[in-house]
Amino acid sequence: MSSGDEPLLLGPGPSPVAVRVLEAAARPLVGHLDPRFLAEMDEVRSMLRELCETGNPFTLPISGTGSAGMEAAVANLVEEGDSCVIGVNGVFGGRIAELVRRHGGEPLLVEVPFGEAIPQERLIEVARDRQARLLAVVHAETSTGVLQPIDRLASGLEGLDCLLLVDAVTSLGGVPVRVDAWGIDALYSGTQKCLSAPPGLAPLTVSDRAFKRVRSRRAPPHSWYLDLQLLAGYWDEGGARAYHHTAPVAAIRSLAEALRVLQEEPAAERHERHLRTARHLWAGLAELGFELLVEESVRTPMLTSVLVPDGVDEAALRRSLLADHGIEVGGGLGPLKGRVFRVGLMGHGAREANVDRLLEALASFLRSR
Ligand code: PLP
Repeated sequence: MSSGDEPLLLGPGPSPVAVRVLEAAARPLVGHLDPRFLAEMDEVRSMLRELCETGNPFTLPISGTGSAGMEAAVANLVEEGDSCVIGVNGVFGGRIAELVRRHGGEPLLVEVPFGEAIPQERLIEVARDRQARLLAVVHAETSTGVLQPIDRLASGLEGLDCLLLVDAVTSLGGVPVRVDAWGIDALYSGTQKCLSAPPGLAPLTVSDRAFKRVRSRRAPPHSWYLDLQLLAGYWDEGGARAYHHTAPVAAIRSLAEALRVLQEEPAAERHERHLRTARHLWAGLAELGFELLVEESVRTPMLTSVLVPDGVDEAALRRSLLADHGIEVGGGLGPLKGRVFRVGLMGHGAREANVDRLLEALASFLRSR
């Protein structure tokens, strides 16, 4: 997978990409309405449905990174004046709130400190009290490494006309994501985390109930590019395949190959590999004297925030890992800047050998001080 010269990507994304996935993007191009490409689009949609454990007809990759998936969901599901409950325990919950505001909604924040999970009951209570039209949460908050419990939200919202929106940018592929079983109405992800494809696409799935909301909007969404009804006209099998925008052919082909790679490993084994590798990291870090930001019961396997020990310069640590050992890790975001560094074990990156290489590099950095 690696020639040895490029950095080992153990940060918050992008994650390492298999050569065959890169090669899929390098194949000679075909037109975006070529029947062979249309067949590959259909295959991508069906593999995404399987990955998200959903039968949602509207399931496709949005052109753009994870934030485009977030904006597509918000722009289509939120209308002027809608009350939207947003769980905020990190940077990305805050980003959803900002998008809701920009698209005319009224964000109602349910906040806990960075590094903690939000009690599901609190989210449900606020949604019920305020008759919210949308409840949005981040499943794996990449700025902290918290895995937010979401399995009881939909049943708590029963009887309300409140859609459940989930950010699965970092969680999809690394931990179970059960769209239908958990009653999720809309969920978006990104290609550069546990799917191990290059950044540039945002898988999005929308339930029939939520799509009905999209169809019955009082006004079209403010975004033309991310208008889901227009996108469906291009992507829908058996539909008009009407030109909307030029599909990023190479990116979609590399995503197709990444999804085929994913399918070669049973989901339960893939999830177990992520957890096993993360536990190996956590044990090794503890031996080196590091402490972690997030309590183990709500810690994501894919992303670990490591507290920077007193007297250690976090930026110098990351610089040394990259320059002296060829390993990229991430810095802290928002209020955690300088206080943590972030280790991503996502997709192909989730291997014990990678963890061993990182632990050796960290030990060497500590010795050299
Ligand atoms: N949501 C989460 C949880 C993320 O981790 C990220 C990116 O790291 C995003 C949204 C935004 O994705 P992108 O940077 O691909 O636009």
